[in-house]
Amino acid sequence: MNAENKIAVDEVSEVFDLQTENQWHVRRSSAAQRIEKLKRLRAAVLSYEDEIKSALFLDLRKNEEAATLELDAVYGDIDDAIASVTEWMKPVIVETSEAFKSARAKLVYEARGIVLLFGAWNFPFTLVFQPLVPIIAAGNCAIVKPNELSPNTSLVISKIVKDVFDKEEIAVFEGGVDLANRLLELPIDHVFFTGSPAVGKIVMAAAAKHLASVTLELGGKNPVIVDKSANIEDAAAKIAFLRNMNTGQVCLCPENVYVHEDCKDEFIAVAKATYSATCYVDGELNTDVHGKIVDKRNLDRVRGYLDDAIAKGASLEFGGQVDESTQSIHPTILTNVPHDARIMSEEVFGPILSIFTYKDISEVYKSLQKQEKPLALYVFSEDDNFVEDVLANTSSGGVTVNHCVMHYLEHNLPFGGVNGSGIGRYHGIHGFKELSHERAVLHTAVEV
Ligand code: NAD
Repeated sequence: MNAENKIAVDEVSEVFDLQTENQWHVRRSSAAQRIEKLKRLRAAVLSYEDEIKSALFLDLRKNEEAATLELDAVYGDIDDAIASVTEWMKPVIVETSEAFKSARAKLVYEARGIVLLFGAWNFPFTLVFQPLVPIIAAGNCAIVKPNELSPNTSLVISKIVKDVFDKEEIAVFEGGVDLANRLLELPIDHVFFTGSPAVGKIVMAAAAKHLASVTLELGGKNPVIVDKSANIEDAAAKIAFLRNMNTGQVCLCPENVYVHEDCKDEFIAVAKATYSATCYVDGELNTDVHGKIVDKRNLDRVRGYLDDAIAKGASLEFGGQVDESTQSIHPTILTNVPHDARIMSEEVFGPILSIFTYKDISEVYKSLQKQEKPLALYVFSEDDNFVEDVLANTSSGGVTVNHCVMHYLEHNLPFGGVNGSGIGRYHGIHGFKELSHERAVLHTAVEV
């Protein structure tokens, strides 16, 4: 263990002991006190905006628009919590059954206690602060670990957290896997983890040692079903555009498209035209709008899927170029991908869209039912019966019909995965409840 790690480990124990004592004070905080903390957080984020945008550019080449999206998502959640936390905290009166006619029953929302929060690198700012908002709103303490693959954003997050909170309430540690493992040894109450299914299993196993509850926001391969009745021009443009968002490094990106065979040619033509129009200037990839793959390891990983699929017989319909100097992979469209290609079983997390055709939708159901349940499923159709049939024959964390990703943005809906793509949910009141223990209270009547 080097000196730096040693210091971090000692500080981890100190912080955990401080939070263990302080959590009872924090969990008793009033709605007004929690609102005050959220307001301080909002003001700090605002004051660090320029630094946050620079960090996002350095880590992922996010442009002004992409960085603003990350910031706006956080402001939106803070504002929502400020407006609603008083209501969320109110106990829910429960009608008693015949046996307890004279008793009073209620549900109260108590804090979980100390929450360990791991952020992901693809939206490195949003995916720390979006979960932190309900952690604060529900009256928890937290230990935050931003993602080490986005070190510039990690540093700004650390500055903001340290500016706004005492470490006995919200502490932040920067580091990688060694630190993650050290933090997972702590007998914390809840882990909120955003990352890969493989590490999600490690996190859940570690949490099980202390019977800590978990929220696992994981990934997977999100399928899209395009029905004959769909507006193909609209569907193909939306799917292609959102597959390329953040260079395909989005847990909700559409990945495998199943399009009715009658519509395949039109679909591919529109998808290609979308990429030509939105990603290139004078025939060159426009790096002002096309961010970078986060690091060399991930560049090689995504290139590996491409090379493997093509070597096994997949057809390259568009793109496929890899540019090491700008750490870019061009938006890419594949067809005829064989079943034994690695891209068929692993999440790509890069800008490759694989297109498959079907004659009979039951072929698609059979294939999807054999795969891990994805984080999202998208269906494009003008026929409501078709949509209901898709819902009845598939499973996923969430669904958007006639678009991609949008269910994530509707904050009245819970966001999360199912089995292989995650456990638990958040956003709005769902996040508040996820970070609370819903405690059952029965108040019996005196009988003498
Ligand atoms: P990752 O699982 O590799 O890393 C996430 C965190 O786990 C990091 O903090 C890292 O330090 C830690 N970690 C890594 N290896 C570890 C180990 N062996 N033991 C203990 N801790 C370890 O994930 P990633 O590559 O940073 O992110 C990409 C994944 O995240 C994709 O699968 C993507 O779909 C998913 N994701 C999900 C959401 C969502 O909201 N559901 C959002 C963004 C990303």
